[in-house]
Amino acid sequence: MTETEYLIVGAGPTGLGAAARLHEKNLDWCLLEAKEHFGGLAASYVDEQGFTWDQGGHVQFSHYDTFDRYMDMALGRDGWLNHERESWVRICKNWVPYPFQNNLHRLPPAERWECVQGLLQAWRQSSQIENRKSKIENFQDWIQQTFGEGIARLFMSPYNFKVWAIPPEKMDWHWIGERVSVPELDSVLRSICTGEDQVSWGPNATFRFPRRGGTGAAWQAIGEKLPCDRVRLGCTVTGIDIKAKQVVTDTGERIAYRHVISTIPLNHLIGMTPGVVEAEKANDLRYSATHVVGVGMEGQTPDHLRTRCWMYFPESNSPYYRVTVFSNYSPENVPRPGEQWSLMAEVSESVYKPVDQDRIVEQTVNALMEDGLIPDRAAISSKAHYMLEQAYPTPFLGRDAVVDPMLRAFEAYDIYSRGRFGAWKYEVANQDHSFAQGYECVERLVSGGGSAYEHTLFHPEIVNKRRNA
Ligand SMILES: Cc1cc2nc3c(=O)[nH]c(=O)nc-3n(C[C@H](O)[C@H](O)[C@H](O)COP(=O)(O)OP(=O)(O)OC[C@H]3O[C@@H](n4cnc5c(N)ncnc54)[C@H](O)[C@@H]3O)c2cc1C
Repeated sequence: MTETEYLIVGAGPTGLGAAARLHEKNLDWCLLEAKEHFGGLAASYVDEQGFTWDQGGHVQFSHYDTFDRYMDMALGRDGWLNHERESWVRICKNWVPYPFQNNLHRLPPAERWECVQGLLQAWRQSSQIENRKSKIENFQDWIQQTFGEGIARLFMSPYNFKVWAIPPEKMDWHWIGERVSVPELDSVLRSICTGEDQVSWGPNATFRFPRRGGTGAAWQAIGEKLPCDRVRLGCTVTGIDIKAKQVVTDTGERIAYRHVISTIPLNHLIGMTPGVVEAEKANDLRYSATHVVGVGMEGQTPDHLRTRCWMYFPESNSPYYRVTVFSNYSPENVPRPGEQWSLMAEVSESVYKPVDQDRIVEQTVNALMEDGLIPDRAAISSKAHYMLEQAYPTPFLGRDAVVDPMLRAFEAYDIYSRGRFGAWKYEVANQDHSFAQGYECVERLVSGGGSAYEHTLFHPEIVNKRRNA
């Protein structure tokens, strides 16, 4: 193939969303992917001992009927296991159901009062100050003004630093939308007075997971349903010649295009496409890495973990921010179902939060023992470690003023940068959003219309409240 109308770079969820729509429309397209498999960050792998791992805790929930249709088609309805979220926060040696701020009655009395006092103060201030939100300058301000000092100190500030690996003071807050539970004061007080847990908040209160092969199985199935003469795996794009409108691959091949849909990280795209955005500007795009440490265990899942999905760890006595009981998502995530089980821990890293990469697996196992999640070190049969260099696109201060002109600069050359790191918008960077970004970008290009076709990228606040794409 030496020329094509639509050239897609990357076969993660975004690239596959674009390819799916182009295939539906029977157009001329081609997809190039550096790896030998589909799925990108949502791919899964099997370690040497036969345990299946995702690249971080992935659960499937969706804002789109189209996405659901493709997922049903990928594995068939029987290929999925449906789950109700059961997640917990480890704090002050207690387990508090998630969302933490809705379940303060589980805290020791002194910490419970600290949280309530802070909430009352925040509530009083918010009713005094007009246009409260205009006074918020960063994520840390948002946390404190929304939840008060107590919840900020105990959970929100340390937890968010642990996940993002960047101080909340250096982050924007406009991305939050549906991603953080903001309970009404009366519902917080009700839970404290009645002692009732409130656990059903949020878009991922129920989710589904592939019966076999991890999250990546769904993306592999979608990729394999595409016509193989249009897809090239193991093909790395090394440059884009904007004058000739040609993509250059690692074998030196040149493919002429009319439009490129690029789903690779925007900072890489800038580096490989001289003349569009100044190379140094790529450094303005902040991100963090994640280490995924999988621990495969012999025996039965301990009773207290049998129904748990994942647990959050805000405190500094463990390296991880989240641990998933991965074998609870599917018994087939272990090689001998019923005789083994597995835990998957995630640890973030950045210049603000360095990680001793040689010792992180041992540090993780030690902390899992201290947190009572691994009952017996001798029962460990597998330890897997995978580092995602770019895992979280940080919603840094001034992000949109940096990213949006970059996206427009590329569009002027018919290059559409989309997806988790392609468009750098965390609020629309899950699998369903990413698939939709690719799908909607094709709608826009085919229709010859403008950005109004790209609801996901340009109207996250609407998309995240609805289910009708
Ligand atoms: C730790 C973690 C937890 C997550 N949890 C969830 C969750 O619970 N639920 C959820 O829905 N989503 C979750 N996600 C998000 C999900 O993984 C992403 O939405 C999705 O993978 C992004 O898709 P993408 O196609 O935009 O990018 P990617 O998945 O990054 O795909 C980009 C593709 O481009 C390829 N590529 C890169 N450079 C080149 C090149 N030069 N030439 C050719 N190909 C190239 C890459 O190999 C890759 O396949 C999580 C992500 C992470 C990191």
